[in-house]
Amino acid sequence: MSSIWNKVWKSTPKIDCNLCGFMTCANFSRNVVAGNVTPLACPVLTLPQFTEQIEEISKVTASRRSIPPKVAAEIPEGGVLLTKPCRDTTERVMAELRISNGLNPGDKVRFSVFDSELLCELIECIKDKFESLKCSTDLGYGRADTGELSITLLHDGRINMRRVLDKESVIQLFREIEHAIFGAMICNCCGSDFLSILTGRIEPQLAATHTVFDAGTTFSFEIDFVPAFSAKSIHEHASEQAEFLLKTIQSGLDLLDDLVDGLSNEQNTANHSLQIEQLKSKVVSSLVESDNFGSELGFLITLSCLKLIGNAMTGLIIVQEKLQGSGHEGFIQKLIRAANQGESLGEFPEDSEQAWLYAQLSRLQITRTLMNPFFSS
Ligand code: SF4
Repeated sequence: MSSIWNKVWKSTPKIDCNLCGFMTCANFSRNVVAGNVTPLACPVLTLPQFTEQIEEISKVTASRRSIPPKVAAEIPEGGVLLTKPCRDTTERVMAELRISNGLNPGDKVRFSVFDSELLCELIECIKDKFESLKCSTDLGYGRADTGELSITLLHDGRINMRRVLDKESVIQLFREIEHAIFGAMICNCCGSDFLSILTGRIEPQLAATHTVFDAGTTFSFEIDFVPAFSAKSIHEHASEQAEFLLKTIQSGLDLLDDLVDGLSNEQNTANHSLQIEQLKSKVVSSLVESDNFGSELGFLITLSCLKLIGNAMTGLIIVQEKLQGSGHEGFIQKLIRAANQGESLGEFPEDSEQAWLYAQLSRLQITRTLMNPFFSS
């Protein structure tokens, strides 16, 4: 069943423009449900085309009162709750596992363990490892199959495996999966996903204790503070792989530059988005390799960069359709120039069509604001 956060998220604009101060609409949704902000804190939702969505969010959040609070369960060492022979083939084992999101047993659970959309996005990056892979953002559920083996992942941190060769293979698979999906973990203190937290743009009053830095079942970070969003952090946390990771980020930025430069021409924008997805897959595939264990933070900072770049591109592609014959060409060009420099876009426009374009270009603006100083600090 779809979670309350997911229901609210489905009614947001789903454009991750950062105008509300949250990096994603999903992070915003969780904070609406938690009562930290009202739906009207999203300026895009105040546009006339979102009137029904605002009503839907109010309806969904009103139903929240009847849900009893949950507390965190104990997670055994290594996260393996049980392994036993499969019922239909005793030569193979089944297992139930749970990923730790950094909470102590009995702590109040405020959010789910994983952001469903990001979970699906990251699982998709390792699809080559399986014969078939399905993921539903609505249900917060993923399933991967290879031969007889089947793995189910749930947004509440549970992982079930069926027909695995032996217990050692269960542990190995669990380790790889946890590495692949860690970026989608939600912090219990602020409701933001881990990749968003790494950008360093979380509201200071919400960032007091990011529980996700204590998370991890098959590995741990052992750091006391949020790393700076910079190339230097990648060197600090993944020194051996830093060259590969920084080159990957640069390739993503080159694609973004290319898209910005050629926006007025009829260039193949779908190809740019595809290439960003390929870069993300490359990073996640490397992250799950045991040779790279111990360098997780460097990889996750890189993924944050690629996610930002991909989001900026999606906004630009939407704007591109309005560059000719919409009557807003001058307005768009002016905003693109400002956004590309990471400068303020000015006041949120009253005209709803311009406001929509403004929000799309805010995706480029926040990306440039964070990425322009990335290599220099
Ligand atoms: S302001 Fe942007 S990021 Fe925030 S909820 Fe609205 S559309 Fe989403």
